[in-house]
Amino acid sequence: MDEFNPLYKRWRKGLKRVALVYPNRYVGGISNLGLQYIYHRINLMDGFVCERFYSDVFDGLKSVETSTPLSSFDIALFSIQYEEDVFKAYEILKKSGFSGLKIAGGPCIMENPRPYEKIFDFLYVGELESSSFFDRLQFNDLKDCEGIYSPGKRVKSVRSKLDEHLEMQIIGNSAYGRALLLEIGRGCVRNCRFCIVRRIYFPCRWRDAELLLEVAEKNRKFVDKVALIAPSPSDHPEFREIVFGLADMGFSVSPSSIRADKIDEEIIGVLKASGLRTLTIAPEAGSERLREALNKGIGYEDIIRTSGLAGEYGIEKIKLYFMVGLPGERKEDLDEIVNLAKEVRNSVRRVEISVNPLVPKPHTPFQWLSFGGKLEFRKEDIRELKEKIKYLWKNLRGFEFKAGSVEEFAVQTVISRGKQDVFPLIESGRANSFRNIFRLGLDRYLGSVEEHWSCVDHGYDAKRLRMELERALRIAGIDF
Ligand code: SF4
Repeated sequence: MDEFNPLYKRWRKGLKRVALVYPNRYVGGISNLGLQYIYHRINLMDGFVCERFYSDVFDGLKSVETSTPLSSFDIALFSIQYEEDVFKAYEILKKSGFSGLKIAGGPCIMENPRPYEKIFDFLYVGELESSSFFDRLQFNDLKDCEGIYSPGKRVKSVRSKLDEHLEMQIIGNSAYGRALLLEIGRGCVRNCRFCIVRRIYFPCRWRDAELLLEVAEKNRKFVDKVALIAPSPSDHPEFREIVFGLADMGFSVSPSSIRADKIDEEIIGVLKASGLRTLTIAPEAGSERLREALNKGIGYEDIIRTSGLAGEYGIEKIKLYFMVGLPGERKEDLDEIVNLAKEVRNSVRRVEISVNPLVPKPHTPFQWLSFGGKLEFRKEDIRELKEKIKYLWKNLRGFEFKAGSVEEFAVQTVISRGKQDVFPLIESGRANSFRNIFRLGLDRYLGSVEEHWSCVDHGYDAKRLRMELERALRIAGIDF
């Protein structure tokens, strides 16, 4: 494996083996600083050694470091980043014959641990850096540890201070290329009504520019690119200092995303000089009315101005992200996606359109909406979603066009909103899960269900969510 790993620890007799399993591709796993932190922390613990597993390396059955089979490990820590990862996690557990302690964490467990109860021994809800989790793990005493979910009880999600940053990390071929990953913040100051980030990583926390630049300086001899990671990096109050400071050190800089309302000539100039070739903008909806219903906070003028700047500075491509199945969505809203895409193409040579169905996520104001964006789910809504995507595809011929599978997003919705009863769906494997949703009667989770995910306390005021939903519906023009 082509990577630089200063955190590697060799196994010797008497050490407990911990498998850190990312049930998805290496490129995503190595881009995840949370996983790097766990790996580092366990390898610093006396009596323990940690090795990594990815779904595309030995099919997730042997470790990357020493090709040791998962079945030889004592503890397996799974990170569930996307709902569909649970299919691979379950397959790995079954195929490997692993019989040790099974623990899972990650954003999907923070969102709703209930669908995972039958697969893992412990489910951890929260962030790990400031938690007692590792001390408890060392003494095999996780039962009453903070953040550990017990069925039938409410669990408070654990938050960490961000006063430190991993100083050394594994440099591999990540989603950002061979780059040092700097997590500049966690959570988000915005309040997009469809997005779970604000609720489950609340409050928004930023790392100091000074700390980040120090970490970068220590790594200067290993790597010449830095990826700035946060849900919305350009909202960092010291974003300019960070970007310009890194550029002055000679790094090329790549933020995980940039908001269209935060870009100016200076920033785009530095990013272009750093090798930026593609700019990603997420308008989410084509019309101002729906963007307002989503509370996206990006206007038509921002998108056009940013595209113009991108064109001026020789950025080759713009990626535009949209969703369908939004509340109150009409044919005119889809036409406005087409018009917006065409206008953006007046500025840059290549425009890629990405369209995905909305997943009405737990803990968001849209948690009471159905898959399809209505107040109630009907089977025809699936066909309607497919037709909307087809309509866009037909009207955007000549554009690079990517669309998520409606079936896969339906499965995501069911798992994110389900309870233990989704286990047979997970057990059935992924390929025909959509058919199984209906066979198993799980289509009820595509509609509005009781908020049983309130078993996780993320510290927000639930009444506000209802008010936010009502505001969105009023703007979208829906009677309720
Ligand atoms: S969509 Fe982006 S900007 Fe909006 S709340 Fe989520 S992370 Fe923040």
